[in-house]
Amino acid sequence: VEQKAELLCQLYGYKRIDTPLFEEAELFARSVGEETEVVQKQMYTFEDRGGAQMTLRPEGTAPVCRAYVEHGMHTLPQPVKLYYIAPIFRYERPQAGRYREHRQFGFEAIGESDPLLDVEVITMAWQFCEMLGIQGLSLKLNSIGCRRCRPAYVEALKGYYSRYTDAICPNCKTRLVRNPLRLLDCKEPPCRNIAESAPKSVDYLCEECRAHFGHLKSYLDLMELSFELDYHLVRGLDYYTRTVFEIQTREEGAQNALGGGGRYDYLVEELGGNPTPAVGFAAGLERIISCVRRQDIPVPPPSEPKVYIAYLGERAKREATELVTSLRKAGIPTIQAVGDRSLKAQMRQANSLGTTYGVIIGEKEVEGGTVMLRDMSRGEQREIALAELVSLLRKKEENCGKEGGIVI
Ligand code: AMP
Repeated sequence: VEQKAELLCQLYGYKRIDTPLFEEAELFARSVGEETEVVQKQMYTFEDRGGAQMTLRPEGTAPVCRAYVEHGMHTLPQPVKLYYIAPIFRYERPQAGRYREHRQFGFEAIGESDPLLDVEVITMAWQFCEMLGIQGLSLKLNSIGCRRCRPAYVEALKGYYSRYTDAICPNCKTRLVRNPLRLLDCKEPPCRNIAESAPKSVDYLCEECRAHFGHLKSYLDLMELSFELDYHLVRGLDYYTRTVFEIQTREEGAQNALGGGGRYDYLVEELGGNPTPAVGFAAGLERIISCVRRQDIPVPPPSEPKVYIAYLGERAKREATELVTSLRKAGIPTIQAVGDRSLKAQMRQANSLGTTYGVIIGEKEVEGGTVMLRDMSRGEQREIALAELVSLLRKKEENCGKEGGIVI
C-alpha cells in the first residue's frame, strides 16, 4: 500500500515530508479546534521535562502547515505539494477499524484556491483506491462554506435543532452548544432522523463559495468522476472550509470511511502564516489494508533475497564474507549463513527464505578458486569459477523477468 502511495505521489508531483511524532499541544488545539472530539477527548498529551504540553500527532495536516509556515515555504512556487505516511494517535474506543495508533497516508496542496486543485486532490485520492484494486467505493461531497457564510448557516442549524432538544442524544445536546456542525453526522438513530430535514449548508453558501462549489462539480464531471452530494458530511476537524469529501466503501458498518479531506483555507493563517488557501486528503492505511483483504485482492509478494551463501569451515566462511560484500555492492540481494550449521541445515534455510540461488563454498572450492552455484527451485548445481560469479549473477538479475533466469 505504501509503495502505491509513493508511486501515486510521483505521478502527481507531491514530495515527501516527515514531521515530528509529537508537537506542542497548542498546535492541535488551535487548528483542529478546542471543541472537537479529537481535542476534547482523544489527544495523548503529556508534560515534558521542561513543563511544556506536548501531544502525540492526532492528525497530519496541522503539522504540515506548521512546517510550511516555519520553513517559509510561501517563497516556493505555489501550490506546494507534500505527502506523508505517518502514525497517528487518538484515544478512542478500540474496535475493528479503529485503533489508538493507526497510520495515515495524506497529501496536501498548499497555496491555491482554484477548485481545480480540489479536483486534483479528489482525483488523486480516488486513483489511489483504484490503483489498489478496491471495488464498490463511493465519493461523498459537500461544501460547508467559509467565514462569511458559515455563521448564518450555524445559526439556522441551531434554530432547527433547538426544537428537538428533548429528542437528541446527550452528546448532541453538548454539540448544539459547542460544535453544532457535528450534529449532522451523529450516528444515533433519533438524531439521524432529525438530521434528515435539517438545513443544508449548500443553501447558505455566499456567492464565492457557491461559484467555487459549482466549478468543482463541473470539473469533476469533466473528469467523469461520479460523486454523491452528502449534505450531512461535515468531517470532524474544525479547520475545514468549502469543500469536504470522503471516500467510503459501500459495505455496511460504522468504519466504512477509507479516507477523507477537504479545503482548509484559513489554517496556515491561523498558524501565523500569510492568508494561504489549501486542500488535502488523508486515508487510514489499516482500513485500506483490511478492505484489500476483505475483497481478496491479490497482493504482489514482497521481493525475496536472490542469493544465499552457505559455507563449510573457517576458510570458506572468510571467503563467503568477502563474496557477500561483492554481491551486495553489485546490487544483488544476498543473505549469508552465520554460525556453524550443517550444509543440509543451511540449504533448508535457503529454501525457506525463498532464495533463487544457493552458493556453496567448502574447503575444496576454496582450494580450487570455485563455488557451487545451485538453482534452488530445480535442485541442480554446477561448479563455476569464483571470479565469474558476480558477473554471472548480475546477468541473471538483469535477465530475470525477460527470460525467467539463466539455466544453470
Ligand atoms: P480523519 O483524520 O479523522 O479525517 O481520518 C482520516 C482517515 O483515517 C479515516 O477515513 C480513516 O480511514 C482513518 N482513521 C481515522 N481514525 C482512525 C482510527 N482510530 N483507527 C484507524 N483508522 C482511523
